[in-house]
Amino acid sequence: MAPPNGPEIDPDRALADLRALRERTEDENGAQRVAWTDTWAAARDWLRERLAELPVEVDVDEAGNLWAVLAGASDRTVLLGSHVDSVPDGGWLDGTLGVLAGLEVLRALAAAGEPPVTVALVDWADEEGARFGRSLLGSGLATGTVDPRSVRDVEDRDGVALVDALAAHGVDLDAAPRARTRLDAAVAYLELHIEQGPVLERDDLTVGVVTGTAGVERHRVRIRGQAVQGGGFPMDARRDALVAGARLVLDVRAAARDERSRATVGAIDVRPAIPTAVPGVCELVIDQRHPDRDLLAKMRGEVHEAAARIAVEERVEVDFERIWSIAPIAFDAALVDLADETARAETGGSARLFSGALHDAASVAAAGVPTVMLFVQSRDGISHAREEDSSPEAIAAGVRTLAALTRRVIERAARG
Ligand SMILES: [Zn+2]
Repeated sequence: MAPPNGPEIDPDRALADLRALRERTEDENGAQRVAWTDTWAAARDWLRERLAELPVEVDVDEAGNLWAVLAGASDRTVLLGSHVDSVPDGGWLDGTLGVLAGLEVLRALAAAGEPPVTVALVDWADEEGARFGRSLLGSGLATGTVDPRSVRDVEDRDGVALVDALAAHGVDLDAAPRARTRLDAAVAYLELHIEQGPVLERDDLTVGVVTGTAGVERHRVRIRGQAVQGGGFPMDARRDALVAGARLVLDVRAAARDERSRATVGAIDVRPAIPTAVPGVCELVIDQRHPDRDLLAKMRGEVHEAAARIAVEERVEVDFERIWSIAPIAFDAALVDLADETARAETGGSARLFSGALHDAASVAAAGVPTVMLFVQSRDGISHAREEDSSPEAIAAGVRTLAALTRRVIERAARG
């Protein structure tokens, strides 16, 4: 009997591709494949050259996503995807791993002749949102989870409008939702990605299965006290907005009680921000995440209660403004089981993890396509940085598992 992947899957080829793309798109500070830039376009040109060696049809949809379609006996389509864009000074594996592993899977499938169902690889445009602050843009527009009107007025730091940057790469923002038809025949979506956390490394596993993505509640909090002269004003009469904010930050952390909770205050702004003034205004952004909807609501409630208490004790006003939220998304239970089984068969072990970070898979799952993700062990859990790395063994295990899972999903889809 032939091994489950056949002789033609070659993880070393995927590794060589990853290194070649890294070479082309990295400088001394890291990867520079920021979406809607020349380096990103060059990365895609390189990908197109690789795809041109295969019997696949390549084109770009109305939302800027690059598709390579290996036609099968049936139109029913198994999708593989991720993104080649990166953050500025990013790593070599975030996104590219899934795309180039998918490329290797396409190669192996194509070498075996016409598959029973169609298989498509998609490179989603602008997963990172690095330039315009809107993550999952290409997948969100294509799946209908992002409304073009909600991003129409967005500009980058240099005042370039998003709508113009997209147009420069051939994307008409208003037409983007038409890309939705690409998903009409999709029966499954599979995405391989680096873990971006330390769990697999800690548990000495190369590959794990993602059960879903966490829900997110992001609020801007504005605290108003009274700016006064710091040298003169007595301590007990102050209404110090930053002291109130600092207390709130600790309560945000305290409300993240279980091991699946995440809570971050990553931005804080103080005015007037001079050494001799008691801060009169403090603004901070709270990002809370949990895979359980009720527990996420509880976390948010605890922080609101803490803010109300601090407002009284510090005699400040506290206002919350919700700037973004997304519900937790559970991936397809049957695909999660199948991925778990496959990872065990291919690598000798597996774990079920949830993803605190969002991925294009969340857009696809939200659009109703049965979805699952595989995570590959990440060295020290570092991502979005030049130091991002995974061992060649872990990368190879990820490629093998994705290939084996794709074959199993094709077989299931072929049976109807
Ligand atoms: Zn990514």
